[in-house]
Amino acid sequence: MTDTTNRKASSVTRTVQALHFVETETGAVVPSIQPTATYARDENYAVRKPYFYRRDGSQTTAHAEAVIADLEGAEDAMLFASGMSACTALVETLPPGAHVVIPRVMYHGVLALFRRYEGQGRLSVSDYAAGDLDEMRAAMRPGETALVWVETPNNPNWEVTDIAGAAKIAHDAGALLLTDCTGTPPCLTRALDHGADLSFHSATKYLNGHSDVTAGVLAVRNPDEMWEAIATLRTSQGTVLHSFDAWLLIRGMRTLFLRVERASDNAMAIARHFQGHRHIESVLYPGLPEDPGHEVSCRQTNGRFGGMMSLIVKGSEQNAIDVARFCQVFYPATSLGGVESLIEHRKTVSGPDFPVHPCLLRLSIGIEDVDDLIWDLEQALSRVYDSGA
Ligand SMILES: *Cc1c(COP(=O)(O)O)cnc(C)c1O
Repeated sequence: MTDTTNRKASSVTRTVQALHFVETETGAVVPSIQPTATYARDENYAVRKPYFYRRDGSQTTAHAEAVIADLEGAEDAMLFASGMSACTALVETLPPGAHVVIPRVMYHGVLALFRRYEGQGRLSVSDYAAGDLDEMRAAMRPGETALVWVETPNNPNWEVTDIAGAAKIAHDAGALLLTDCTGTPPCLTRALDHGADLSFHSATKYLNGHSDVTAGVLAVRNPDEMWEAIATLRTSQGTVLHSFDAWLLIRGMRTLFLRVERASDNAMAIARHFQGHRHIESVLYPGLPEDPGHEVSCRQTNGRFGGMMSLIVKGSEQNAIDVARFCQVFYPATSLGGVESLIEHRKTVSGPDFPVHPCLLRLSIGIEDVDDLIWDLEQALSRVYDSGA
């Protein structure tokens, strides 16, 4: 017999319904957008909580934050105007001269941020090969390291890092663990459940999913003074996500589970198709059983592996650029996590000094008909390699 007393709706249901939102005055099932820049004081001339001015945030943004905190199993979440502004706030909040441990190769914007702070003498930085916990352990300075940064899966080669293992290494040394799981959003990886202290996502990507918002989010297990300091910085810099964008994000997140499921299934089919292909040197995708990150990924990504992969094509750098150029369905654009598929020659985008294979094409697989996507890559490869173009 069905238990009719109480059932806590699942994460899927809660996200689809934006936490079963109903506007009390009207019954509307979609939240309104609150765009005000200022808030009137009350009849006693006291500031109405919790907002005083736009830089404090808004109810629309707070609603989006509540949906993400729920998805992440977090105590609190904070949305910023972009992923990079969230990362910058976090890094700004570290004590001057703090020691941090980061992947040697990672999302290029965050890497450049750490290297810039290091160059200015504001941080001391040690690095490790993405996914390699032995190197991570060796880079730690117990009692001195403030933060360990893990990106998993890690741009642009999609190495997988064991979050629970990294959390142990960080915590044994008295450091915090931050994860950037933008490539496998919380419907796949709930990093806090695996021991991360802070979870970062570029919400520009899968969380929003429609390539029409930039946003970044930090989620926390135990809000502490550092969390308060990040909030203060967001208020003083005015980098809180705008209400209109927060509203789009709420709408985008309603289909997060469906979109990521479909993108993952498409990506798996494409990875299988191009494995051992005559024009492909290697397929980098943790969903493949042969991938070095597969086993760990199975433990921390909820049965699917996301839509991000890279193809290393045979031949020259120019051949790789031409494959991207000749695509007709994939867009030759940066970013990831949208419904539409993107292809990008990573060396061109991340600059000549960035250590990436010159023939690497990063694919963000969308939710289109997978046969169209496979056809597109095949025709582009064929035009480059078979016609002597
Ligand atoms: C996009 C991205 C960022 C930066 O986020 P923005 O929203 O573009 O500022 C950080 N990390 C990863 C893994 C990303 O993909």
